Amino acid sequence: MSSIESLGDLRGKRVLVRSDLNVPLEDRDGTAHISDDGRIRASVPTIQRLAESGARVVVTAHLGRPDGTPNPKYSLAPVAERLGELLGRDVRFATDTVGASAQQVVAGLGDGDVALLENVRFNAGETSKDDAERGAFADQLVALADAFVSDGFGVVHRKQASVYDVATRLPSAMGGLVAAEVDVLRRLTDSPERPYVVVLGGSKVSDKLGVIDNLIEKADSLLIGGGMVFTFLAAQGHEVGKSLLEADQIETCQRYLAEAKERGVQILLPTDVVVDTAFPSGDREPTPSVVAADAIPADALGLDIGPASAAAFAAVLREARTVFWNGPMGVFEVAAFAEGTRAVAQALTEIDGLSVVGGGDSAAAVRLLGFDEAAFGHISTGGGASLEFLEGKVLPGISVIEGN
Ligand code: ADP
Ligand code: MG
Repeated sequence: MSSIESLGDLRGKRVLVRSDLNVPLEDRDGTAHISDDGRIRASVPTIQRLAESGARVVVTAHLGRPDGTPNPKYSLAPVAERLGELLGRDVRFATDTVGASAQQVVAGLGDGDVALLENVRFNAGETSKDDAERGAFADQLVALADAFVSDGFGVVHRKQASVYDVATRLPSAMGGLVAAEVDVLRRLTDSPERPYVVVLGGSKVSDKLGVIDNLIEKADSLLIGGGMVFTFLAAQGHEVGKSLLEADQIETCQRYLAEAKERGVQILLPTDVVVDTAFPSGDREPTPSVVAADAIPADALGLDIGPASAAAFAAVLREARTVFWNGPMGVFEVAAFAEGTRAVAQALTEIDGLSVVGGGDSAAAVRLLGFDEAAFGHISTGGGASLEFLEGKVLPGISVIEGN
């Protein structure tokens, strides 16, 4: 009912597509280079399908956090080029989002043509908390289109103009990417096959603690690594040296540990940790060493789970029938601290059941470490969105379309 078919015949219609093209850019001798194009690839099928149906496709997306003003550092121009290569079609790039360039580019589209508008977050209205300001910007986007397709799963948890407000103003549908994501996440929340194991890591500690509340009620085991683990170790009374720590969340972690125990849910923390004396940087060779998780030296910081922990995590994962993994186990970008993440990824490829990877960096890690994406049940393009879904929150970008 909310799929693209519900929009009817799209030939000649201008279809605004919200995609998630927020890819990591690297500066190489003054030119921006896309270091991982996974999100562009994931966005291609819906755009391709709309173009093939004869629609005039107007893609809108964001890159980084330019905070409401144009900034060449966050231009989508390199993304337009890569999107064109992947589509095998010319992608016309508008140098503004809703201004003269956008209007001209959209007016010049023929049936089946594709345009990309400049970074939607160059406009303060996009992320404004003020409904009227956001709505006014949405009206400008809506003036460029006859229908809307929401396909940026990474942003559906945001009440933003190009995600939410446009859908209240145009005939709207979910794109194939968002529909597939929602389908998999519903399988995780509605009677998952057991054992159901959740692996959490990464660096956004307080963001991710919220999901634990809900998962303690749903999962059989929670495996914790990455940056958040040190707040848990501190909650058990251990020193964590210079490791990432959110002191104001220690009590919350203590509560989770107690609640899990009461419910018979296993929370597995690493027993060993790979540490170094400084966070890795380009100027310095890493000097990793393995220490016990309850004996982290004062001058050390934990950058990966240790080999014994990686083996223990992998053993639990191999027995699972459903796995959700969000957040790398360590600073996988540096080879010396990538083994914990590799072990978890490897175990996920071997399970007999549904394995879901969520999170931009987790998905990037899987590719960087050379895994075949097809070896996983599903790789989600949206970390925050998938976590909020699992927390049981209403995602504005989805409810606005399902409620249409
Ligand atoms: P995702 O995008 O998959 O949701 P996050 O953005 O939360 O994941 O976290 C990814 C980042 O976490 C990576 O850049 C990684 O280097 C970092 N990270 C992992 N473990 C640690 C750690 N122990 N200390 C600091 N940063 C870490
Ligand atoms: Mg991330």
